[in-house]
Amino acid sequence: MTALLPFPDDWQTALVLVAHPDDPEYGMAAAVHRWTHEGKRVVYGLATSGEAGIEGMAPEECGPLREDEQRASAAEVGVSEVEFWGFPDSEVFNTGPLRAKVAEAVERIRPDVVLATYGGPEWAPGFPNQRDHMEFAAAVRQAVGELRGTGPRWLFENGPLATHAVAVSHADIEAAVRSLAEHREYLRVLDPDTPVAEQAQRQVEMTTPAREDFGGRRAVGFELVGR
Ligand SMILES: [Zn+2]
Repeated sequence: MTALLPFPDDWQTALVLVAHPDDPEYGMAAAVHRWTHEGKRVVYGLATSGEAGIEGMAPEECGPLREDEQRASAAEVGVSEVEFWGFPDSEVFNTGPLRAKVAEAVERIRPDVVLATYGGPEWAPGFPNQRDHMEFAAAVRQAVGELRGTGPRWLFENGPLATHAVAVSHADIEAAVRSLAEHREYLRVLDPDTPVAEQAQRQVEMTTPAREDFGGRRAVGFELVGR
């Protein structure tokens, strides 16, 4: 097993780019909590408001509710800047307008590091990724790749194929659990039989394992994909 490299530390601003509300919480919130508590700035940019994400709820009711849940969730890990770009949920495609929006956000926020949703075809054998995630990640890769001097120093994806990792503390993990649990209505409908706090705990434990390839420490892994 190849050892993971330590995630870079010499930066000040990170831009997290994802397709939907709850995408940051499913993998990277513990790392975000660590970074904001070190005084770094982290901004969330979401392509959609997740308005198609709660079964049985009309999009015009669902979108605002999920934006509220996402803002509360971000606040738990020290993030106060959350943008929703208004692309249609479940119909995200790697189009010119989406790439232009990615480029606009990067040029305005000037992040040192961009952390994107995972764009590979599967999380694990038999666990396919969602089309929105793959299309969105492809748009981010292409848009960031086309930026000249204004691009970030690093582009990472938060998926199963880590090249780098950042160690997280018990407090970071607890914050990540509270952060995911803020998606109350979403999680309640997703799995009505399991209490929301329990769903959140289980998911965060799974995405921040003690890593043999990182000195046995609990860590969040990222794959360097560009720049
Ligand atoms: Zn998603």
